[in-house]
Amino acid sequence: MSAYLDHAASTPMRPEAFEAMVPWLQHQHANPSGAHRLARDARRAIDEARDVVAAGLGVDPGEVIFTSGGTEADNLAVLGVHDRRGGTVVGAATEHHAVLEPVLSRGGRIVTVGPDGVIDLDALAAALDPHVMLVSVMLANNEVGTVPPLAEVAEVVARHAPGASLHTDAVQAFSWLDVATGAASADLVSISAHKFGGPKGIGALAVRSGTPLSPRQIGGGQERDRRSGTHNVAGIVAMAVAMASTVEQRVATVARVGALRDRLLDGLLAEIPDLVETGGPRSARVVGIGHVCIPGVESEALLFLLEQAEVYAAAAASCASGAMEPSHVLAAMGVPRGVAFGALRLSLGWCSTDDDVDRALEVIPPAVERLRRFAGSAATGPTSVAARVGRGTTP
Ligand code: PLP
Repeated sequence: MSAYLDHAASTPMRPEAFEAMVPWLQHQHANPSGAHRLARDARRAIDEARDVVAAGLGVDPGEVIFTSGGTEADNLAVLGVHDRRGGTVVGAATEHHAVLEPVLSRGGRIVTVGPDGVIDLDALAAALDPHVMLVSVMLANNEVGTVPPLAEVAEVVARHAPGASLHTDAVQAFSWLDVATGAASADLVSISAHKFGGPKGIGALAVRSGTPLSPRQIGGGQERDRRSGTHNVAGIVAMAVAMASTVEQRVATVARVGALRDRLLDGLLAEIPDLVETGGPRSARVVGIGHVCIPGVESEALLFLLEQAEVYAAAAASCASGAMEPSHVLAAMGVPRGVAFGALRLSLGWCSTDDDVDRALEVIPPAVERLRRFAGSAATGPTSVAARVGRGTTP
């Protein structure tokens, strides 16, 4: 029996999203920018999808820009506002690299977070001034699941940087939170379909009208000149179907997956001595992400043992795993380096089951015990523990 516990990296496609996508890959191949009937059909499908996505994000259809995913949406938000307005850009220390790198590339300011991973509002106020033109604070963190008080963030921004636009990366939030309400105070909102049951390679940036933005991709003038490039019709249609299902089932899914997450974490806490649950109270984190740190164990080695037992999880953000540096999120939260080396993210999704939790609880505690025995007998650093179980790095 296997258990996939890496839904925050990518969650399986919903069958209805897959089915909706197939005709646009198989038979309906016209370019939606064309003039004939087949092109108009494709354009209509995009328009219908745009209505669904706009409703899910609480914006007008004309405020939705389809992108190739969350990374492009985040880049477009930060760089697009900066290209248009200049000034200073500001981001929280725990942002995804898709936000952090653009902020740093423009010489922006990074704001500290508290031990619970929530942005420090005093530090935010101190980082702001009238020259700040963009502030980016994510709606749910991809490693520990923390949800910041975005409306309060917006108030601080309005008070100290009245000309600034507020961007929120809602990529990890969409499955679990009513983004239309939760991101109502943001001017720009990023999402990515493969985190909520759509395909990889499609996402969107919602940009409320009046928000100044320069395009990053220029050419044929699609998306009202805000993002040129032939539309990914199949991806857009499938994303909308996945989004509609996510919104319709969200309340029930959150209740069901929340109970699974609690059983998983409580089971690990009961079985593994000294295990530390990361982040603030569970009620202040999205239900899909469980994060723990296991002192005396190195994540790389643990992930290897779990994989052998067909339990698939992650150490840090999936893009960052492979590096032996502890995650920037845990570092920003002040988790000691030695503890952060034992980070384990167990993330659940719309199709997670009790069997997944049972399997994880069956496999993880003995794997930890085995590694701790190795570590005790080796009296060496974490890398050599990884080497002893047969693996130095992850691909
Ligand atoms: N933002 C967050 C919070 C994410 O978790 C991810 C993906 O891991 C991204 C952005 C990037 O999205 P995509 O994989 O669609 O480029």
